[in-house]
Amino acid sequence: MPDLSPAPDTLTVLNPATEEVVATVPAASAADADAAVVRAERAQRGWARLAAADRARLLRRFAAAVDAHREELARLEVREAGHPVADARWEAGNVRDLLEYAAGGAERLSGRQIPVPGGLDVTFHEPLGVVAVIAPWNFPMPIAAWGTAPALAAGNAVVLKPAETTPLTALRLAGLALDAGLPEGVFQVLPGHGPVAGRALVDHPRVAKVVFTGSTATGKEIMARCAAGVKRVTLELGGKSPNIVFADADVERAARAAPASFLDNAGQDCCARSRILVQRSVYDRFMELLEPAVTSWAVGDPSDPATRMGPLISAAQRERVRSYVPEDAPAAIRGSAPAGRGYWYPPTVVEAAGPGDRVAAEEIFGPVAAVLPFEDEADAVRLANATDYGLSGSVWTRDVGRALRVTRAVAAGNLSVNSHSSVRYWTPFGGYKQSGLGRELGPDALAAFTETKNVFISTEET
Ligand code: NDP
Repeated sequence: MPDLSPAPDTLTVLNPATEEVVATVPAASAADADAAVVRAERAQRGWARLAAADRARLLRRFAAAVDAHREELARLEVREAGHPVADARWEAGNVRDLLEYAAGGAERLSGRQIPVPGGLDVTFHEPLGVVAVIAPWNFPMPIAAWGTAPALAAGNAVVLKPAETTPLTALRLAGLALDAGLPEGVFQVLPGHGPVAGRALVDHPRVAKVVFTGSTATGKEIMARCAAGVKRVTLELGGKSPNIVFADADVERAARAAPASFLDNAGQDCCARSRILVQRSVYDRFMELLEPAVTSWAVGDPSDPATRMGPLISAAQRERVRSYVPEDAPAAIRGSAPAGRGYWYPPTVVEAAGPGDRVAAEEIFGPVAAVLPFEDEADAVRLANATDYGLSGSVWTRDVGRALRVTRAVAAGNLSVNSHSSVRYWTPFGGYKQSGLGRELGPDALAAFTETKNVFISTEET
């Protein structure tokens, strides 16, 4: 008799630089998600009972296993996500660092003693239980670890759903966690489709918190679904971050630094400074200096250590970028990209018609920056804030007072002065407005994965 059972659903992982199949992975069903949560709940009880120092020791072993397999993880990231190998090595190292930092957090997760009359008042930071981490494809390894490392350190179990285009590094990390001695069920990876496996985790009554990174549209849907169970939620969503260049800045340095701020990871970065705001008196000079910096950007084979930009993640993402700026549309500056197979798109700079122009207003998530002139400081702040997003931003000026005024006036969570750096595992990260809810990373990262319990003990004799 022919087998009439439906073919199991699978995810096909493509190499975005070559369009070749890298692997196929079974896609989890809603029932698989339920089973993973049941396993996680069971494992979490023992994990939370471990002494903090023992949890920390196991997380340090996990970090050491990641470090020992850094090159393997990086090469996997190159193949499934098209990241330049130099970036991918940094990303694997970042996972190691996040685990080590979180391990120290477990040992420092202490409550307080608050003076009260008639007794002793103490607080405890208790784990939430099972945490679902839903990760995107743009930085598959680091973003998975942003949620996972502190959640585990605080005594929670984690079920991680990676993006369907990039499940391989996450699966490898789960294997390394087991090799390092983490108890089975404490950290599970559930590859699958967002609306199936992801939604099943979001809706699951035994999931206490959802950590989501991705598009604002999906984030809003997840937040609404979490409301049904008053489920805790952290959202890291989109951005359209400004790079503000004042006339008093070192304009050469600002122009040299600008390409990395919107071309890293082919612009598929929630922190990309994809709106360049330049004071009118230095606008022409800035554009002249920007041109060679963009056209000389090395775009090509991501496995070559000299490459600075690889392909976009998928054909769909390239179509999305093209819908904003087709490759044959006029552009102020256009770099080059390989032809042929792979989801290539060249570095591109366009002069926006105004702040409402689609290229200046919407998150493109590709190697495209829109440039706009501004008149003075008030105009720069007005333009910078003329967006529903508020994730990052940069200010280039030699005037320290102005640097402070403008960084305080821009409604965004992560700002840098004379730099584009905004993400460090030991400093807080998160968005204002529709860029997100809550903070990740930094010294308080574990607090987001605990409930604070207050206990009063009477010392009265009767
Ligand atoms: P999504 O926000 O849809 O995907 C992010 C993650 O959420 C993936 O793991 C996805 O699974 C999952 N997911 C999707 N739908 C649901 C759901 N209903 N319930 C639970 N989980 C779900 O982003 P896209 O991949 O569709 O990218 C679209 C756009 O989003 C990009 O062009 C970019 O503008 C933006 N984006 C922003 C990111 C950021 O860092 N801020 C990261 C990624 C994208 P699956 O992979 O199966 O769809």
